[in-house]
Amino acid sequence: HHAAFRKVWMKEDVIRTLPERKRASHKGVHGKGLIIGGSQRMTGAVMMAAKAALRSGAGLLTLAIPETIYPVVASGVLEAMYHPCSAKNGGFAGEIDLIHLDMDAIAIGPGMGRLEGTKPIVQAALAQEVPVVLDADALFFWSDYARFLKKRTSPTIVTPHPGEMARMLGLSIREVENDRFQVSRQMAIDYGIYVVLKGPYTIVATPDGKQYINTTGNPALAKGGSGDALTGMILAFLMQHRSLEAAISNAVWVHGKAADFLVKTKHSPFDVLATDVISAIPNVLSSLC
Ligand code: AMP
Ligand code: MG
Repeated sequence: HHAAFRKVWMKEDVIRTLPERKRASHKGVHGKGLIIGGSQRMTGAVMMAAKAALRSGAGLLTLAIPETIYPVVASGVLEAMYHPCSAKNGGFAGEIDLIHLDMDAIAIGPGMGRLEGTKPIVQAALAQEVPVVLDADALFFWSDYARFLKKRTSPTIVTPHPGEMARMLGLSIREVENDRFQVSRQMAIDYGIYVVLKGPYTIVATPDGKQYINTTGNPALAKGGSGDALTGMILAFLMQHRSLEAAISNAVWVHGKAADFLVKTKHSPFDVLATDVISAIPNVLSSLC
C-alpha cells in the first residue's frame, strides 16, 4: 500500500493546463452549460454562479430556475438563456424536463433550498450523461442520490464546505477538519467522484485517490456567495479543459487568486463581495493569458 499522491497546485500548473481560446472558435465549442438552482429566499446564488461561469469562458449558458424568480434573475443575467420550471413554496416543485436541452455539463444547487421538491430535480440532473457538479443544497439529501451516482458513467463533482461534508458523511465538523486529507480522499474513492473540500487550503480529491491542494484565497472569501461563484467557475472550466482534475484545480486557484488580487489592490478582507470576486476574474485570467 503506497502513499497517497498529493500535490500543491501551482501557478505554473495553471499556465500549463489552461486551454487556449482558438482564433477560429465559436460559442458552441466553449461549452453549453446548464445551471439549476434558485428559490424565493435565494435569488442571487444562481445569478452569481451564472456570472462567474460566463466570466470564466462558458460559451452558452442556460439557467433552470423556479418560474417565480424568473423575472428577477433574467433581468440580472442578460447573457444567459432560461428554462423556467414549475414552482411550489418558492422553490422547485419536483418537475423538470431536461431531455430537450442539449447540454455539455450541469451544475446544480446554488440557492436551491431544501424543499422535498428539489430531490427529483437533482435526480434528473444525475440521470443526464454529462459531467454534473453538485453544490450547496444539492448535497442536502445526499443519501437519496447514492443509487443515481452508481448508474452514472460521466464524472460527478461535489463541492462541499466542511459543514456540508460533515453532514454528508455523518461526521462532526471537527472530525472533518481534523482529517481533511483522509476524509476527502476516501469519499472520492468510495463514491467514484471528484470531491472539492473547500475552506482555506481547498483540497481537490479524484476518484483514483490523487489530491491537489490550493494555496490561493483568503478570509475575504468567508462570506455568502463565494461558493456559488466557484461552482460557476468549475462548470465553465470543465467544459473547456481536457483534464477534469486540471479544470477543477484551475477554477479553485483562479477563484482564490481573484480574492487575493482584490485584497492586494483596492480592498480589505472585510469589504469584498462575491460579486467583486467575479469582477476580478478578468484580472487573474488576463495575467495568465
Ligand atoms: P461556500 O461556503 O460554499 O460559500 O464556499 C466558500 C468559498 O470561499 C470556498 O471556495 C472556500 O474555499 C472559500 N473560503 C472561505 N473561507 C476562506 C478562508 N478563510 N480562506 C480561504 N478561502 C476561504
Ligand atoms: Mg456554498
